[in-house]
Amino acid sequence: MAMIIAIDGPAASGKGTLGRRLAAHFGLPHLDTGLLYRAVAHHLISAGEALDDVAAATAAARALDLQRLDDAALRGRAMGEAASIVAAMPSVREALVALQRAFAGQPGGAVLDGRDIGTVICPGADVKLFVTASAEERARRRWRELVARGEPADQAAILEDIRRRDRRDAERATAPLAVASDAHQLDTTHLDADGAFAAALGIISSVMASRTKS
Ligand code: C5P
Repeated sequence: MAMIIAIDGPAASGKGTLGRRLAAHFGLPHLDTGLLYRAVAHHLISAGEALDDVAAATAAARALDLQRLDDAALRGRAMGEAASIVAAMPSVREALVALQRAFAGQPGGAVLDGRDIGTVICPGADVKLFVTASAEERARRRWRELVARGEPADQAAILEDIRRRDRRDAERATAPLAVASDAHQLDTTHLDADGAFAAALGIISSVMASRTKS
């Protein structure tokens, strides 16, 4: 039986790690959709175009190739910030819908994580998780990640980044970060990666069990 798992949540909430682990557990392909917006921003920056150039951003989104997402160049802190600027453009989002839905429609299903998976991309997903954590805890996690990668990082600046990105993602007109009415909320503030994974598995198995019964 195909199973689509949609995971949404704010920056550094742990949804990426959770998505990867759930995908490995269920043997499903996983798409971190934040990488798509990061790749559009990266393309603009590399080509010397302005981040607010809607035509250039839309062209970059249309030309995006899922097979060629260069992870390492896209992961940094600045690219997340840049991604949230192009992600607010309706034509950029529009250009990326078909590709995400095709990924979700693979025969066995898929795990996708992002901001609008349960609300816009896969409103019919079998299981929807909305992963949250306090802004302070998310800033601490991002800081640890950056330090581990050897990127110099300042916790207060990261917290400010996270708050700004939360605002931009929640307040934009098209596909804002929002909890789908049928999403299960998972607050990971006091959970480590193992705890979040166990809690998510619990939610997924109870959703799937209640579906088989009905
Ligand atoms: O999840 P990540 O931090 O990589 O996302 C980078 C930015 O891309 C987010 O701040 C958000 O603006 C945008 N994004 C989005 N919709 C998605 C995934 C990411 O708008 N489904």
